[in-house]
Amino acid sequence: MAIPVPKPKFKRHKPTAKQRGEVTKKVRDQLEARSGGMCERCGRHGVQAAHITRRWKLKKTTVNDLIHLCISCHHWADNTADGRKWLKRLEGQK
Ligand SMILES: [Zn+2]
Repeated sequence: MAIPVPKPKFKRHKPTAKQRGEVTKKVRDQLEARSGGMCERCGRHGVQAAHITRRWKLKKTTVNDLIHLCISCHHWADNTADGRKWLKRLEGQK
């Protein structure tokens, strides 16, 4: 007698990297309140939320995993050795 094969369930138990990196409205508001909408490195306006913590390390993103940076600081942080060191230091301060 054949044993019925259970229907495969494509349910994810672990959040995907995208979900872990997702920034909720609440977290955005907290970030906005902390930075005042200005770059937290140079104080310029026109900011974007940058991840301090690498996304794959996160279960979910909190305000402590983020920093508001202007485009040039964001680029600097992500693409230069100094910038990455700087982010690492921030990560260590949590
Ligand atoms: Zn900046």
